[in-house]
Amino acid sequence: MTGYLLAIDQGTTSSRAIVFAADGSVRGQAQKEFAQHYPEDGWVEHDASEIWTDSLALCRKAIANAHIDASELAAIGITNQRETTVLWDRATGTPLARAIVWQDRRTASRCEALREAGHEAMVREKTGLLLDPYFSATKLAWLLDNVEGARQRAEAGELAFGTIDSWLLWRLTGGKVHATDATNASRTLLFNIHTQRWDEALLKLFDIPASLLPEVRDSAADFGSTDPALFGTPVPVAGIAGDQQAALVGQACFEPGMVKSTYGTGCFMVLNTGDQAVTSENRLLTTVGYRLDGKTCYALEGSIFVAGATIQWLRDGLRLISHASESEALARSAGGAKGVYLVPAFTGMGAPWWDPHARGALLGLTRDTGIAEVVTAGLEAVCYQSLDLLEAMIADGASRPTALRVDGGMVANNWLAQNLADILGVRVDRPVITETTALGAAYLAGLQVGVFQDLAAISEQWQCDRDFSPKLEESDRQARYQGWREAVSRVCTAGG
Ligand code: ADP
Repeated sequence: MTGYLLAIDQGTTSSRAIVFAADGSVRGQAQKEFAQHYPEDGWVEHDASEIWTDSLALCRKAIANAHIDASELAAIGITNQRETTVLWDRATGTPLARAIVWQDRRTASRCEALREAGHEAMVREKTGLLLDPYFSATKLAWLLDNVEGARQRAEAGELAFGTIDSWLLWRLTGGKVHATDATNASRTLLFNIHTQRWDEALLKLFDIPASLLPEVRDSAADFGSTDPALFGTPVPVAGIAGDQQAALVGQACFEPGMVKSTYGTGCFMVLNTGDQAVTSENRLLTTVGYRLDGKTCYALEGSIFVAGATIQWLRDGLRLISHASESEALARSAGGAKGVYLVPAFTGMGAPWWDPHARGALLGLTRDTGIAEVVTAGLEAVCYQSLDLLEAMIADGASRPTALRVDGGMVANNWLAQNLADILGVRVDRPVITETTALGAAYLAGLQVGVFQDLAAISEQWQCDRDFSPKLEESDRQARYQGWREAVSRVCTAGG
């Protein structure tokens, strides 16, 4: 079967639509940044109506840019920023307030209180997550408690909750379908990842009426069809996954033990653990990788808060470079950071250190340290933190992978990709198509409507642009990593 697939990639700072051909090639795309609202310190909001209006316009533009007619689309897939919480009126389709974005910390004290009351173990056991404001549940409760009349109206069944995927789906289907997929549900703190159902005890704990919740479907499923008025013809919506999970699919990491890492502003490493929901002893997250034909594939996820953001800081804060891409030539000229370590703990340190109070440092400076060494140390920090994550996954029982599949803006940097392989001691594979998030959404939709027969057909399509084999001596690798751990121990109270 031929047929084009339209992916909506709704991210934190921009929305995108991409038309893919059945061979995975990009035929047309459109992108737009949208407004970020910071009404108070630590608060981050998005206008869900703006996100919808933009997404629709971008879909139409991408279709036009691909020089196709909407009737040639086999299906639509949606991938989205995760956890961001929308509450809307079922009758009018109007949001009751701005969406609360995943980065928003306003519910930190609520989470703290629940932790102190001893609820974390139960929450972790059921959801695989931590009691953190990052996830949707406390954001939704906040909206119910702070938007006038919301709780009452929710109890009366007048309102709907959704992450961004559900919200877009609701609007695309003209208010006919209120659903989500298992990957997005698994980020709400309300979904039991073992039973694959919304969980009564969690709904009670967070004080959320069940009437608000979307129906949870497979990641490749019949999500209804678009309102014919939108594109002139109804188009099936057939795939949904959260951004990191969509990237796992776009990277064709379908076997247990396969791992992908996305290097953008931050970095997300996701390991396929098959039918095992692995409980982490290192505060990694257990999550749904994807769910197909009712069968859940689990994943372990770890994140680095500051990855490409270090390079932005070197550019905009220190003004050591004028373009991110200059970092590559500088690192080559320096031939390594020569014992300089940059610990980018601008907002604390994540896995496996977990010190929110840690702050950054530059260590190991000598009289001949120059711009090149500092910039190189910034790139190397991303590699060391990747190894921290990988080691945490291995400590949780994963075996060392044969390769790491990478994507995101940073991996255009060949020096970085090689250094990553050297530090990890693992081959690094960079695919031809690095739009893996959107591609994953298209793959899921294509799977549902028969553009792809099975996962094997998708795996066959995955093509390596370039692989980077480790070249560093094991003793050198160990010595450099030891230096990193010592540097981290200087900034973390927990110690290295
Ligand atoms: P996001 O999706 O988070 O906005 P992208 O995947 O677009 O991020 O990647 C952008 C990030 O990658 C920026 O932080 C930028 O500093 C970094 N970056 C882009 N090109 C390079 C490069 N050649 N070398 C190192 N970092 C880069």
